[in-house]
Amino acid sequence: MAPGLTVFLSNRECPWRCVMCDLWRHAMPGRVEEGDILAQLDEALASRGSRRMDWLKLYNAGSFFDHGAIPPSAYEGIAVRCSGVGQLVVESHPALVGPRIVGFRQRLPTGVRLEVAMGLETVHPEAHALLNKRTSPGDFERAAAWLRDAGMDVRLFLLTRPPFLGATAAREWLFRSVDMALDMGGDPVVVIPTRGGNGAMERLQAAGQWEEAPLEWLEDAVLHGRSRGLGRVLADTWGLSERFAGQPGAVALIERLEKLNRGE
Ligand code: SF4
Repeated sequence: MAPGLTVFLSNRECPWRCVMCDLWRHAMPGRVEEGDILAQLDEALASRGSRRMDWLKLYNAGSFFDHGAIPPSAYEGIAVRCSGVGQLVVESHPALVGPRIVGFRQRLPTGVRLEVAMGLETVHPEAHALLNKRTSPGDFERAAAWLRDAGMDVRLFLLTRPPFLGATAAREWLFRSVDMALDMGGDPVVVIPTRGGNGAMERLQAAGQWEEAPLEWLEDAVLHGRSRGLGRVLADTWGLSERFAGQPGAVALIERLEKLNRGE
């Protein structure tokens, strides 16, 4: 696997507050300054030393292009620090995809490709609307097209099972969502096992509006996506060993997913 580094920058809470999101747990109480962001990045880069980095993910528990999260005055300093990296990955809400990205991208050193990750979650229209992203799947389609036309790469995140759908519909729409994310040019499409833990998901579960998807759905979705022969389809295996500890077959399944992620 190509060497790289994932950095989690701490900043203010994402203003969208989607139902299933738990990233606010890592947020700061208020806005952070340019110097805070650059200091966090410097510390993370120092941990890597002089080892080669083909890719760098700068995740900030929200949108990189949210000016209240990452001050634009930090763009130049961030860009300079990406020198020598093949690909920079940042996250964004589709509402922020547009001209504000161009200013940042123009600062990146030659040879650094920019990939923008967006949380599509599901293309089921009603379930998507109820997530409180204040988007429609069509907004993602337009944002992805804009990014690709501008020469950037698109990463799309999907949930195995969003709330508000019964098991049969959720499984069917998982495959449809993988198909549509690939058709939007997602490469990779990353399938994330929906998790509880933020309080809201537990309330939805108690009300009969959400259940955790079986781990097998994750493998099924990845294999389905790969059979399309379009972009890469990956499984997010973060924390799965702990979450599914003791479940028969889970260890072998997670190993298979990790192999698939490595392209083996
Ligand atoms: S837009 Fe993304 S980071 Fe912000 S609340 Fe929604 S899921 Fe969380």
